[in-house]
Amino acid sequence: MTRAANLLITIRRWIEMETPSHDPSAVAELARQVAADAEQAGLRTTLLGVGSEVGPLLVVSSRSPGDERPGILVLAHLDTVHPIGTLARNPFRIEDDRVYGPGSFDMKAGACVALEALKDCVRRGRGTLPVDMLFVPDEEIGSAASRSDIERIAGLARYALVAEPARAGGRCVTARKGIGALRMRAFGCAAHAGLQHERGRNAIRELAHQVLALEAMTDYDRGITVNVGRIEGGTTTNVVPEQAALAAEFRMPTREAADELQLQLGALRPATPDVRLEIESWLKRPPYERSAASAGLLAQAQRAAALAGFELAEAPMTGGASDGNFTSAMGIPTLDGLGVAGDGAHSLHEHFLLSSLEPRLAFWTHLLEDLA
Ligand SMILES: [Zn+2]
Repeated sequence: MTRAANLLITIRRWIEMETPSHDPSAVAELARQVAADAEQAGLRTTLLGVGSEVGPLLVVSSRSPGDERPGILVLAHLDTVHPIGTLARNPFRIEDDRVYGPGSFDMKAGACVALEALKDCVRRGRGTLPVDMLFVPDEEIGSAASRSDIERIAGLARYALVAEPARAGGRCVTARKGIGALRMRAFGCAAHAGLQHERGRNAIRELAHQVLALEAMTDYDRGITVNVGRIEGGTTTNVVPEQAALAAEFRMPTREAADELQLQLGALRPATPDVRLEIESWLKRPPYERSAASAGLLAQAQRAAALAGFELAEAPMTGGASDGNFTSAMGIPTLDGLGVAGDGAHSLHEHFLLSSLEPRLAFWTHLLEDLA
């Protein structure tokens, strides 16, 4: 049996274990299986608890105990966006070159390929840089629970490689926007809508002003978007609403833009007299900016791809973030989107291309060796 055929069996097993981010025990079960598989290949594994809401963070390492040399950090995640039961709607199957299943493309196949390459390097005694590979349990919900551990382990990284799905045409990712979050609450004054309307201070009306102010911060030319995605408030129509709340998300390409948005948010004031605003904002994922160091890493990856028989092009900056945003913001040369080719991430027609398995496996093996 070819390596790709063997690998496909493992990928199928991973896909058929459904692992939504919000199901800690399902993610934990897959993490244990991946750990057992890695241990069999002579790798060290650690399952780190990162809170009761999500599964454990699995660390697979080729380091010997006490080895603290700067190494290669490989980022992968085991969770998917798909609720349990999606497998029945998008079952594992192969149609022509397409391999379907929930989480197939994003990113079980890519994670499996990267691990296989690492096992291969260890088996053959190749590669001299230590490799730490992380299987994150909550990437699809922002990696809030894993973030501090990811950043701590990334402290030992000289390079970061992310096995997220490749972009259209198999291209890799060298820049991603950052994501900011905002929660805003307005506190007005309730009153009878018929008897004392003038005494009321309408919290919803206040937020209506704020929605327009927030959305006006969108600047497509500069790649900055603001999306007010949730709003709620009031009790019933004969009461002037005392409270209202909204949640928004920001995406921005640079740290500079993130700082600028922060200033703009800090300058927001209530438009309605006697209404108080509470604003809370934070950077969920810092922007992942293209750097000279990451361009050097790309050049090395392109050589590895050429050896594996394909051309690795660079995709334009993407609005979707990943755990690569954390490592990049730490100043670690980061290359992302190195997983398999395919399409339909987060949808019911999610699939990867069978023909990309073998070349990507060869690519990862070359890259892990060459970076050493
Ligand atoms: Zn992903």
